Amino acid sequence: MSYENSYTLKIIKLPETTKNIMVCEKCGKECENGNFCQECGSTLKDKEIKIVLKSDDIISEFRESSEDARYLLSNNGSTNSTGSGHYIKTDLSNFSLKYPSAIFQLDVAWETSSFDEPPSRYYFQKGKMQKCKVEIVYEDFNPKKMKKIEDI
Ligand SMILES: [Zn+2]
Repeated sequence: MSYENSYTLKIIKLPETTKNIMVCEKCGKECENGNFCQECGSTLKDKEIKIVLKSDDIISEFRESSEDARYLLSNNGSTNSTGSGHYIKTDLSNFSLKYPSAIFQLDVAWETSSFDEPPSRYYFQKGKMQKCKVEIVYEDFNPKKMKKIEDI
């Protein structure tokens, strides 16, 4: 077991939520409260709008719920500190139930990352996890890319 792994988290599909706001029927201005438009005095109408949640807000909420995430990740999903991250996958899997439309991508550069143990990628949604297979792809031979070693 290695203890100096680097974790990064991305939300590749941000969840959406809806919110009801009051909008003026006449001029379209959004009004916080009251029954009449502050701009033109016309009556207000209830309107449902879509809000895309912010990645930083969700990751910071995840960090509040998981000791591993708090230690390993920053609010923007970058690596905060290296560590074993023993519980972070279970924590993220549980947390993903809270935002069923979101897709989370967790990347791990292992302390021992090498050809034999490349970095790992996991996806999480609705309490489930996909462990991604890694494929290492080498370019084909291309005579146009041939250079002297000292120029590479
Ligand atoms: Zn108005």
